[in-house]
Amino acid sequence: MSNEIDPTTPPSGTGCQECLTGDGWWVHLRRCAACGHVGCCDSSPSQHGSRHFEATGHPIVQSFEPGEEWFYDFRTQQMGEGPELAAPTSHP
Ligand SMILES: [Zn+2]
Ligand SMILES: [Zn+2]
Repeated sequence: MSNEIDPTTPPSGTGCQECLTGDGWWVHLRRCAACGHVGCCDSSPSQHGSRHFEATGHPIVQSFEPGEEWFYDFRTQQMGEGPELAAPTSHP
């Protein structure tokens, strides 16, 4: 397993890390598979999930929505599957 996915790192919180420190809001949440950063999706105004990839190069996110387990690779823009990440794997 490369360092693109670290199944032992818990998510950074229950909402988008950047939106919570500002006054942002989001539609859906994505969790970085490498460092646990929780960011908002591309349907959200600020798209912090994509921003995180551009800033860090961490290419893989998992949906942080309840009941959704898919992964997404920003480089290939393909959805896929991945290992079980550290709990919780969705927001409350
Ligand atoms: Zn955000
Ligand atoms: Zn990350």
